[in-house]
Amino acid sequence: VEAAVKAAKDAFPIWSSKSPLERSQILNKLADLIEHDLEAFAQAESKDQGKTIMFARTVDIPRAVHNFRFFASSILHHVTECTEMPTMGCVHYTSRAPVGVAGLISPWNLPLYLLTWKIAPAIACGNTVVAKPSEMTSVTAWMMCKLLEKAGVPPGVVNVVFGTGAKAGEALVCHPDVPLISFTGSTLTAQRITEKSAPHCKRLSLELGGKNPAIIFDDADLSQCIPTTVRSSFANQGEICLCTSRIFVQRGIYSEFLKRFVVEAKKWKTGNPSDPTIDVGALISKEHLEKVRNYVKKAQAEGARVLCGEGVDPLSLPPGNQKGYFMLPTVIAEVKDESCCMQEEIFGPVTCVVAFDTEEEVIKRANGVKYGLAATVWSGNVGRVHRVAHRLQSGLVWTNCWLVRDLNLPFGGMKASGIGREGAKDSYEFFTEVKTITIKH
Ligand code: NAD
Repeated sequence: VEAAVKAAKDAFPIWSSKSPLERSQILNKLADLIEHDLEAFAQAESKDQGKTIMFARTVDIPRAVHNFRFFASSILHHVTECTEMPTMGCVHYTSRAPVGVAGLISPWNLPLYLLTWKIAPAIACGNTVVAKPSEMTSVTAWMMCKLLEKAGVPPGVVNVVFGTGAKAGEALVCHPDVPLISFTGSTLTAQRITEKSAPHCKRLSLELGGKNPAIIFDDADLSQCIPTTVRSSFANQGEICLCTSRIFVQRGIYSEFLKRFVVEAKKWKTGNPSDPTIDVGALISKEHLEKVRNYVKKAQAEGARVLCGEGVDPLSLPPGNQKGYFMLPTVIAEVKDESCCMQEEIFGPVTCVVAFDTEEEVIKRANGVKYGLAATVWSGNVGRVHRVAHRLQSGLVWTNCWLVRDLNLPFGGMKASGIGREGAKDSYEFFTEVKTITIKH
């Protein structure tokens, strides 16, 4: 970390003085190079993380490419502010400059996707970076490093440190020459980072966990809602911060929903991540698998019903995968709101389904957790979807869809799900320092 910060500091004067257009061209070149090796990156991401090859091929790596292209373009289109004060004979305007060495720390669930979502805006704005990918999933970050020079990224602009959170992560957080930290990971780690960085008054962006509700009203189009909610519950083995894990269904359609939802969930095939017909790959680690399984056991002990998946259906795996950390998509019904399964982030292929009666009631229950990252609302009533969306304590609300993203708009959570937002304008503001200049004429 010491050497990486020094290299980043030394590279800062030259990189920050390049024009946005010059930096943009380099980012685009890097995007092209990753895209050229997309299949190799996807294979590595799948093998390293356990995610399916299809997910890595269609989501992780294309999005990593897009992150560089997106910020290569958006950096060219920002304007600063200007106001006039004729009575004082003054013009005020703002200017923005890169901050310096940015510390970037990312998790294991979407390794290259999330790492590049930080590197791209940071360097597009003219900062140099020290990035620390998760120690569980460092392979694609390593592969990207090999392309930096070819893309024309000058030495020292992007430094990647491979190491554990406790050692490398914390050294970065505590380093006096790193004025800002962009972190994606768990709420617990974010609390530690906040404490450790406080003496330095560092600028922090914290993208954390979620306990995301889906609210399904009785006028929802179930033919759209059910497959999408199965996907939002189990995509990437449920290891996405935006995954649905509490499904509130209006009582009139509750039994029909449950029946159809379980049928759809059972269509999701669990198995060898390298097989392109597989929907659910392996969980990240043995410890994590145990943790997720324990939630299911706790729910059962509390009297909830496991409708499919863990402990209910047989999991048949190919011979080569039998020691892997696999788990079937699991649907649990009749879980109490105060149960840990309805309150804590499980981060695995487990979703809870409960009934509700009124709009007022469901808003209160959906908001009744410490998190506030993402929510989905399903209804054919346009007035209702707006009303409910406004009242949900959630940084993102999708209505009648899930995971449709415009990178221009703010991304991030409220409450224990984070501080700050990322996106075209938000990342630009985070990774630059603003100054107000007044000219008297
Ligand atoms: P984690 O907090 O354990 O680790 C995240 C990163 O922080 C890793 O690189 C780790 O090495 C590092 N780290 C750990 N301890 C540290 C310390 N003391 N100082 C500095 N760095 C430290 O999280 P995880 O288990 O890798 O990821 C899963 C979590 O990430 C889930 O809670 C998930 O919801 C969250 N997440 C959030 C988003 C979002 O955008 N809101 C996206 C993906 C994942």
